[in-house]
Amino acid sequence: MAIRTSSGTISKARRLLRRGREWLPTLCLACHRPLCRSYSLCRECEAELPWLVDACDHCGEELADPAASATCPRCRLDPPGFESCYAPLAYLPPVDKWIVDFKFNANFASGYVLSRILARAMRIRWSDGKRPDLLLPTPLHRSKLRQRGFNQALEIAKVLAAETGIPLQARSLRKSRATAPQTRMQGARKRSANVRSSFELESRQALGNARRIALVDDVVTTMSTVRELSRVLKRAGVEEVEVCCLARAGP
Ligand SMILES: [Zn+2]
Ligand SMILES: [Zn+2]
Repeated sequence: MAIRTSSGTISKARRLLRRGREWLPTLCLACHRPLCRSYSLCRECEAELPWLVDACDHCGEELADPAASATCPRCRLDPPGFESCYAPLAYLPPVDKWIVDFKFNANFASGYVLSRILARAMRIRWSDGKRPDLLLPTPLHRSKLRQRGFNQALEIAKVLAAETGIPLQARSLRKSRATAPQTRMQGARKRSANVRSSFELESRQALGNARRIALVDDVVTTMSTVRELSRVLKRAGVEEVEVCCLARAGP
């Protein structure tokens, strides 16, 4: 496993992660009752989360009519450039608040709970033998990384790597151009233009012989970012790109 980021960022993230983990076996993140589990969410509260059950097998978005087809009408018309996108949860309360807390308030405890839920879902999903060769976190531009102090996608990918045994490569993709937040962009065309050519493959060598890649992110909303990353990877010869994220939001 090769994780190479600036040492300052890594040590800060580790410090924050340790701080978050200190209280892990004590209180449920949702109901605040004491619990004894390897992550801080009780089984009752976990059952109440907004699970995505009937999702499109391509884009992972909730299907309006699951009985009609396993693929949503949009993906049937315009298939995304990657093989699949999967999220166990919908970006709804309390998941949305936990992700915001994780990203913007460095609440690593909530990030860890959601990452463990994702890791368990992916272990089941990958148990059919279609395991990716490598996990790649969505990169942050260096200015954003400096500002935030950590890359949330990398923190999620670390949990996924530890729980599944799949190697993680944190430095093969690079965000070469800072972009406006996708949430401020109106319309698919503008969102797509916003991220176009903003990612680069820093090192093809770092991908080794990986043919199947899992891109790891916190939330997928418009798919423009993961489409662009997938394009970069496929241009470099990667055969299959699967996206996995904590939660899926509608565009
Ligand atoms: Zn609870
Ligand atoms: Zn779809």
